[in-house]
Amino acid sequence: MLLKRNNAFFSYYLKPYKYEFDETITNINLKRSQVLTIVLFIVNALLLVLDLLIYKPMRSVVPAYSYLYYSHLIVMPFLMVFLGLGIFIKKQNNTLCKKVFIYSLIFTTLIWCSFIGINSIYITGGISAYIICIFSFATCFLIHPLKTLFIYSISLVFFIYGLILSVDTVQVLYSTMVNVLITAILAQIISSLNYASYCKDFLNKKRILESKQMLETVNTKLQEYEKTRTDFFANISHELRTPLNVIYTAEQMLDNSMKSTNLDRSQINKYFKMIKQNTYRLLRLINNLIDITKIDGASFKIKMINYDIVKAVEDISISVAEFIEHNGITLTFDTEIEEKIIACDPDSIERIILNLLANAVKYGKESGSIFVDIFLEENYVCISVKDTGIGIPEDMCNLIFDRFTQVDTSLKRTNEGSGIGLALVKSLVEMHGGNISVKSKFGEGSEFIIRLPDLMIPESDEQISSMILDEKNINRINIEFSDIYL
Ligand code: ADP
Repeated sequence: MLLKRNNAFFSYYLKPYKYEFDETITNINLKRSQVLTIVLFIVNALLLVLDLLIYKPMRSVVPAYSYLYYSHLIVMPFLMVFLGLGIFIKKQNNTLCKKVFIYSLIFTTLIWCSFIGINSIYITGGISAYIICIFSFATCFLIHPLKTLFIYSISLVFFIYGLILSVDTVQVLYSTMVNVLITAILAQIISSLNYASYCKDFLNKKRILESKQMLETVNTKLQEYEKTRTDFFANISHELRTPLNVIYTAEQMLDNSMKSTNLDRSQINKYFKMIKQNTYRLLRLINNLIDITKIDGASFKIKMINYDIVKAVEDISISVAEFIEHNGITLTFDTEIEEKIIACDPDSIERIILNLLANAVKYGKESGSIFVDIFLEENYVCISVKDTGIGIPEDMCNLIFDRFTQVDTSLKRTNEGSGIGLALVKSLVEMHGGNISVKSKFGEGSEFIIRLPDLMIPESDEQISSMILDEKNINRINIEFSDIYL
């Protein structure tokens, strides 16, 4: 009962490490069996010397001395074979082979010791050989209690059968039988305790190792978080200070111009433009920061309506075409479908496309091209924004959607930015139930593909077919493109 409960207990906790545990104890047992074979070999050799020097005259008087001598003699080559086999099997990477070797050694030695035990009753009156042998096994080897029960029981049956055959006196027979039984039971208990304590050790080591690994993972994450935080503050300070410096300088220049007697209108316009663009840059940065914080706090909501996505993307592309072409870049819009009404938030769609187009310009090359395409994929409407710009290194393609991640993080970089745009785009696309991916070849250009589910809101009357290019939209374009200096 106790064995069964113990067995269930260890099987349950050791289950996840079954193979590792099996292999570990097999290797330990193999090492110990090799040491034990050497010890047995030496002891047997010494006993053989005793047989030859001291007990030789007794052999003709008491036959038990002869049996002892022959058994010591016969077992020598067996032990040598086991020694050689042990060395050979140790080099093999086969757990089953190792197990077969270990169990054969234990089994053979126990049966042999049972024989010597029976024989020694006629010499010493006791079963010392069996006692020494079974207790050595119980303390040395790590064997599952059920397996030891099986092995010890067989040797016990063999022993008792041998006793019945060879002992004539009932009193000696019974007392020896009781001694053997007690020895076997004690050996079984020692063996089980030995095995259980090893299992506990193994499990504790595993738990400590797992906790250590968990701590290391948490530590790595904390270090990454700390790095992101430091990078963020370094970057954000730069991003906040640069436009503020420009605004401050422009304001000083304006002040000086106003004080001067001959007003230069073109200079004044230039300073106003500088102030406006850098105000937009600050606004964009702060808007993005607020939105990303709202998304984190789950307070950012999108308003889904049934909307013609083709027209929406086309309108946005048309609205920025002039600006983009002013930068020496051509913009081509193409679509596989004329009209596609899906459930989406037009404001968010505008933000997504403007962000991608602004990046395509920002990271584009002089006289490059931008292609906006709409096509259908199974259950999805796909929008592709492709450019012939600087491209993204392969190892960065998945990372650029992470917050504050930029390919070029040096403060000397040529493009302005905070690394929030794509993280925001990704969150907005995912809020629509879609996904975003990028294909890029470093130095040759990038293609961002957004997949939006081809679904409509049931029973919704709200349907706007086109976007009106009002003041608000123009402002938004200015804000989204504010990182790009003309
Ligand atoms: P940023 O404000 O720095 O542009 P984004 O989140 O929009 O932040 O982009 C993150 C990074 O991804 C950019 O710093 C840039 O290195 C890279 N990236 C984004 N779009 C493109 C593109 N079209 N071509 C090349 N690199 C791009």
